[in-house]
Amino acid sequence: MRRGVLARWAAHLPLTARTPLLSLGEGDTPLVPAPTLARDLGCSELWLKCEGQNPTGSFKDRGMVVALAKAIEAGAKSAVCASTGNTSASAAAYCAAAGIACNVVVPEGKIALGKLAQALAHGARIVVLRGNFDTALQRVRELAGRTGIALVNSVNPHRIEGQKTAAFEIVETLDRAPDTLALPVGNAGNITAYWRGFVELGGRRPVLLGFQAAGAAPLVSGKPVANPETIATAIRIGNPASWKLAVAAQQESGGMFAAVTDDEILAAYRRLSSEAGVFCEPASAAPVAGLLKLARAEPKRFAGQVIVAVLTGHGLKDPQAAIAAAPALGAPIDDDPAALEAALK
Ligand SMILES: *Cc1c(COP(=O)(O)O)cnc(C)c1O
Repeated sequence: MRRGVLARWAAHLPLTARTPLLSLGEGDTPLVPAPTLARDLGCSELWLKCEGQNPTGSFKDRGMVVALAKAIEAGAKSAVCASTGNTSASAAAYCAAAGIACNVVVPEGKIALGKLAQALAHGARIVVLRGNFDTALQRVRELAGRTGIALVNSVNPHRIEGQKTAAFEIVETLDRAPDTLALPVGNAGNITAYWRGFVELGGRRPVLLGFQAAGAAPLVSGKPVANPETIATAIRIGNPASWKLAVAAQQESGGMFAAVTDDEILAAYRRLSSEAGVFCEPASAAPVAGLLKLARAEPKRFAGQVIVAVLTGHGLKDPQAAIAAAPALGAPIDDDPAALEAALK
């Protein structure tokens, strides 16, 4: 049974006797092997940490459950977040379960359909703001500071605390830390959280490889991007909120940030679903795209390694991206056995 992040990892989290043990059964997501991709990487094992199997379909649930439990403990009656999608879907679901109001500010025209459907279904109040994610985050930070509405973006330190539990699960399942951990980087909260998790466990730590989309790669270029652009909407972020902590994690681990193009992301996205059987959203394919790119440049780079790629969100989050990346459906055939046989040749 999935006990949820708060009950399972209580000893590692900032809980008190008064923290409500909120849970939608988040965490305990599977590590799925990807042997054909591992062969192309030239590594010994590649495991996919399937965070799309969290209750709302992304890793955001791990941190959201802690952030909202702590907000409720402190007496909050409502929460607010800026979001490119998954944060709002997660906040809306946990607010519904906890019985508090959820307010979501989304940048205009930049939210995947599945995520919007979730926020609407869970009854969040949604405000569409003219501007990009970075502007939206700035506005909700100001609002939360003025009003006392709980801010549940990843600048909320409880989010990072909850998210670090994914590192605990990986070490528990593999019975060791991987040599390399690859993940997509947007606001950079998750890379910060994984590093904290591995450091807290003590013992061996992985090298962290953080991949950004080429049109939204401030951590690669070293400067904010004014108008970030990529098909991977979950990482379309020009000025990461956890910039400094993420750079520290990358440096302490001996890792790097690198960029992958949208075409490279889409190629990895298709391979993950067609070869490994794991349907993730485009942003989640960035680490696999990045690993493949590094291995092409240097074929022996990952020799002998155990690698984990974090697939941050489920493919159903962004059905339009999936349909656009696939071949078009053929015209309908006549209802005739021979026609069906011919069509399947
Ligand atoms: C939020 C999110 C990311 C980026 O995580 P950060 O902590 O902002 O770096 C990547 N992929 C998906 C699916 C996400 O929802």
